[in-house]
Amino acid sequence: MPELPEVETVRTGVAGVLEGARITDATISDPRLVRPFAPELVAAELRGERVLAVERRGKYLIVRFESGRVLLIHLRMTGSLLVGDSGSLADDPHRRAVLSLDNGSDVAYRDVRRFGTWELLEPGELQPYLRKRLGPEPLGRLSSRRLAGRLAGRRTSLKAALLDQRTVAGLGNIYVDEALWYARLHPLRPAGSLDDEEVARLHRGIRRALRLGIERQGASLRDYARPDGASGAMQDEFRVYGRDGQPCERCGTPITKTRVGGRGTHYCPRCQQMADDPS
Ligand SMILES: [Zn+2]
Repeated sequence: MPELPEVETVRTGVAGVLEGARITDATISDPRLVRPFAPELVAAELRGERVLAVERRGKYLIVRFESGRVLLIHLRMTGSLLVGDSGSLADDPHRRAVLSLDNGSDVAYRDVRRFGTWELLEPGELQPYLRKRLGPEPLGRLSSRRLAGRLAGRRTSLKAALLDQRTVAGLGNIYVDEALWYARLHPLRPAGSLDDEEVARLHRGIRRALRLGIERQGASLRDYARPDGASGAMQDEFRVYGRDGQPCERCGTPITKTRVGGRGTHYCPRCQQMADDPS
């Protein structure tokens, strides 16, 4: 599932093509993508719009138009964007939408499991929409103190608290596990039980895992690919995710996999202990 680094990689891959371009034609072939609205209606609204900027907030892609409207794209499980010269993209049974641009490029949206969404928002609707759903940007203004404030008093596990997009935006199953390994914190620790030093470690761990993911242009597992069709390389950098049974690179102890709130969770049982005593 694309998380912040994958969405950021998609953003940089499409921004150069979309920014400054006008949409000359739009086709939306899957009603699920834009429901409850009719696909023909949304496609008609997109035609003629000129793209000012492509931004990201959490796991959302934000396509800003000159008109003040915004196309908010969420890739969910298996969504991806592909760019190519007009008419050059190969046929694809999982293609759900195509935007044709006046600069001679096409941007196609592909989604195998069809959980992704495209929402066309009117001017002024974006900020309230995002404020309701997302906490701070972890690579932006999130300070260690602010993170402490968002964890304080919470009895839920660290894993669940960090998967909650209102705590911090953009983390998913992979980068939470990686961040907790860097921070040497057990995924089941109650979120509100961390002292200042532990929160500072978590803050650094989150940023380190995400920055590495962006540097490696995301993790290509199953369906994620970059907009030019190439793969990311973050999967080669995982310290715990998908490495159950393999030695922890810090201490050599085999990585353990368990389930937390239904999600596969990977950690080192020696470096990441429940008690605050990493002896
Ligand atoms: Zn270890």
